[in-house]
Amino acid sequence: MQILRETKLEGLKLARKIGRERVLEVLSEKRLIGRGGAGFSVAKKWEIALGVKAKERYVICNADEGEPGTFKDKFILKNNSETMIEGLLIAAYVLGAKRCFIYLRGEYDYLRGELEEKVREVLKESKMKVSIEIVRGAGAYICGEETAILQSMMGNRGNAMYKPPRPTVSGLWGKPTVLNNVETLTCVPQALVYEDWNPDYRLFSISGDVSHPGVYEWELGIKMSTILEVVKPKEKLKAMSFGCFGGIMPVKKNLSISQDTLCKNDCQHGAFSIIFIGERHNVVDICLSIAKFYTYESCGKCTPCREGTIRLVNLLKKIKNRDADEGDVKLLKEFAEHIQETSLCGLGQSCGNHILTSLKHFRKDYREYIK
Ligand code: SF4
Repeated sequence: MQILRETKLEGLKLARKIGRERVLEVLSEKRLIGRGGAGFSVAKKWEIALGVKAKERYVICNADEGEPGTFKDKFILKNNSETMIEGLLIAAYVLGAKRCFIYLRGEYDYLRGELEEKVREVLKESKMKVSIEIVRGAGAYICGEETAILQSMMGNRGNAMYKPPRPTVSGLWGKPTVLNNVETLTCVPQALVYEDWNPDYRLFSISGDVSHPGVYEWELGIKMSTILEVVKPKEKLKAMSFGCFGGIMPVKKNLSISQDTLCKNDCQHGAFSIIFIGERHNVVDICLSIAKFYTYESCGKCTPCREGTIRLVNLLKKIKNRDADEGDVKLLKEFAEHIQETSLCGLGQSCGNHILTSLKHFRKDYREYIK
């Protein structure tokens, strides 16, 4: 796997040799984009933070992987954390940061001891005069969002904040702050060191009704038929869900997985987690389970998300209990659209994706339940 290639501080050595401007050029030429879902250019993000006049800058590794069905960052933390830490040091070198942080998902606390040891080893070997602190999250899904991470780290409630300003301009304690996730930072030294590094390789988290769930690395454009041959469905598959915010669509063997092909089906790849759903399930049940997750995780700061997610759960329960009619399904769609349009952060803005895509692709499942 490309992501498991070790760089043994060669990336950092090279970065110091060629200088920060050339590092930015190389990362841009190699087309390294963020792997957390937004897909923003890493070089561009670093350039923006570098362009802000400030006495201090900070770098944060976002290890708050909380998306249901996503476990690829955990795989890296277990198997190649040295390379991720090296990526953090390269970012610190380019940005002139003296303090770096790893914001670790609360549920991954059992990885902390080993991670601390690796941090000590890499820092000692690198001889860089920077600190890397591990900050443990308290388990809120919203703290995977960059402004909520900052609030949580500053001792505030982990709420998302309005943007702009973006963290690259005014982040931790008002200073320019770069946040990159685990996979992105691991790719940084690999992209610098390896000539044949391929920007189109992605980690996929595969789960659901398949015999071989796990983390796989595939090139973008891979055909669904190839994925199915590897993961071996346990039963006839009906649907695939892209995490909880990327939407749900039928399993099509001839579909190639890329941003464009998923967009045509109103779905988003997000962090490339695919949950396969077998024929025996009704998609309304899946949507109800996802809607309950959003209700639980809504931070409550803005009304459309706080109140709306509860309404979505109630309507889906009504449909599942066979108490609903077509009018309720229409209302469900309107609510989902309205919450998405008026919510403050990505959680509220994506909480209706499953409902809207399921209404488009699996109307039959709704008809099975309504009067
Ligand atoms: S959209 Fe939801 S999670 Fe985001 S700020 Fe509003 S209430 Fe909080």
